[in-house]
Amino acid sequence: MEGLMMDYPLTTTTILEYGNRAFHHKRVISHLPDGTRHEYSFGDLYRRCKQLANALANTLGIEPGDMVGTFAWNHYQHLELYYGIPGIGAVCHTINIRLSPQQTEFIINHSEDKVIFVDATLVPLLEKIAPQLETVEKYIIVNAASGFQTTLSNTMHYEALLENQSEDFTWPQLDENEACGMCYTSGTTGLPKGVLYSHRSTYLHASTILSPNAANCSNQDVMLLIVPQFHVMAWGFPYMCVLAGADMVMPSLHLQPEALIRILQEEKVTKANGVPTIWLGVYEAMKKNPPKERLALEEYLVGGSALPASLIEGFERDFGIRGVQAWGMTETSPLGTVARIQPKHASMNQKEQLTIRAKQGIEFPGIEMRIVKDDGTIAPRDGKTMGELQVKGAWVLRSYFKTMNKEQFTEDGWFKTGDVSTIDMDGYMHITDRTKDLIKSGGEWISSVALESALMSHPKIREAAVIAIPDDTWSERPLACIVLTNENEKVSKEEMMEFLSRDFVKYQIPEHYVFIAQVPRTSVGKFDKKEIRRLYAEGKLA
Ligand code: ADP
Repeated sequence: MEGLMMDYPLTTTTILEYGNRAFHHKRVISHLPDGTRHEYSFGDLYRRCKQLANALANTLGIEPGDMVGTFAWNHYQHLELYYGIPGIGAVCHTINIRLSPQQTEFIINHSEDKVIFVDATLVPLLEKIAPQLETVEKYIIVNAASGFQTTLSNTMHYEALLENQSEDFTWPQLDENEACGMCYTSGTTGLPKGVLYSHRSTYLHASTILSPNAANCSNQDVMLLIVPQFHVMAWGFPYMCVLAGADMVMPSLHLQPEALIRILQEEKVTKANGVPTIWLGVYEAMKKNPPKERLALEEYLVGGSALPASLIEGFERDFGIRGVQAWGMTETSPLGTVARIQPKHASMNQKEQLTIRAKQGIEFPGIEMRIVKDDGTIAPRDGKTMGELQVKGAWVLRSYFKTMNKEQFTEDGWFKTGDVSTIDMDGYMHITDRTKDLIKSGGEWISSVALESALMSHPKIREAAVIAIPDDTWSERPLACIVLTNENEKVSKEEMMEFLSRDFVKYQIPEHYVFIAQVPRTSVGKFDKKEIRRLYAEGKLA
């Protein structure tokens, strides 16, 4: 028998409409790229989203199902795009600004973006690849200073686009299962893969993560969104904050520790998100130069890489600020688990509690996880048995965009994360290793396979194997193990770095190199990365 409740679509427009009705006075504060501060209300956001919807549909001719790219920092205009684009039934495709020109070009052509909204400070990155972009008809420049010049053709300024547009717009009735946003994630083979979010998955993710068990966000909070909007929808915070009625602070490019500390102080931020590298930087800067007044910051949510127990401990001891670890992936919208202490842990000593908080945590309602051992059986929840972490749930992808990638899904409908983990008897998941051949540095991926094939195209290099090694600042950095073609013909580190700079951006280029006689191999002849990592850990590679 069918239930007799209303069919009420869970869409991003439902979120925006709710925010305007319930919290029209709440604030969006942007620290813009030029250093100026901009503030307006959820009510203003609502009205401008309607103007944007008119502009998209009428001036730019965007139709339902079209891809619209954004190449921008965190600020109010990007927030408007997060609601305006899906509001008319198009897809908001946030493009990562940190990728190499080749990857960016691939992503834009693969997604078939029709229009790209680009921050003026980022225009030079697109100018380089614009001639190769096959589908882009127009570029809309955001935050351009007077006298702004570009070689991009067919441009228009964002404010000019919105000017004179009506604030009346009737949102189309959308099916909650339609696509609303897209992000690309690094593929292990080097080619990025698109994850296409639906309105429903976005709504459910946002409404679940605001819970006190998760991001702990309410209308009492001032939330600093450090995770870039070009990175897995800023972890869904632009939707979560509107549902929760939390003030939003958007730092755009002001991501250096000193700038973040200033914003935390000035805006009396209570909560924030970010990768470990950011929080390590903030912690060190605060230790060097302790703020005169205690910050309003109560806690920061960390994900993307493991949050070191030492950082949780230091921040809490020195400044009374709580670090909370979350785990997620682009494929899981991204938040899947969070590690918070429960009353049953109260009697434990601080060290034992830290051990729990340094795990990746328990899953959100709406997400299921399991550990599958090498022999294909499910591991017990004993905190010891390792295996591959698999997930399913209301905001986990069922296929990549335009490509199924069957090998990443099980026959019974689980997604294989490529993380190796344990789950303890209380349900806390702990990542111990990774099967995917990637390096995560400062929250951004580096493909070891892409580095290896580039290095092996150097005439003096016969073989190259790249592994991730731990790094205090960046979480991980790449280490390149080189086998020379001719032992007497050395190649310098500088020469290799210069060679790689043709295809890779700076953060992707290894600064650590070792020369080895041969690359260890598995029984089937593949590079044995596990063995290389073991040799490194035992100090046998340097
Ligand atoms: P995000 O942008 O949220 O980091 P990605 O899809 O780029 O998402 O990366 C997801 C991967 O990052 C995970 O599969 C895992 O390997 C790693 N990761 C994410 N969060 C954590 C965490 N808290 N601890 C350890 N690794 C993590």
